Amino acid sequence: MKCPNCGCKDIGKIGVNQYYCWGCFIELSIVNGRLSLHQVEQDGSLTSLDDLFEEHDLSYNADAH
Ligand SMILES: [Zn+2]
Repeated sequence: MKCPNCGCKDIGKIGVNQYYCWGCFIELSIVNGRLSLHQVEQDGSLTSLDDLFEEHDLSYNADAH
């Protein structure tokens, strides 16, 4: 598994279907077989980054990691 945002493979698991990219500090969730990306703001709120990506960037292949 690698981060669709920065291409970094330094992904840490933080929960069930939840991961954290140490390359660009975003949270990755797997929802219904696709990735959902969120940026963690300084106040702890989450901003969705999904709009920045194409559908094929967010499709999650369970065999790929
Ligand atoms: Zn990243």
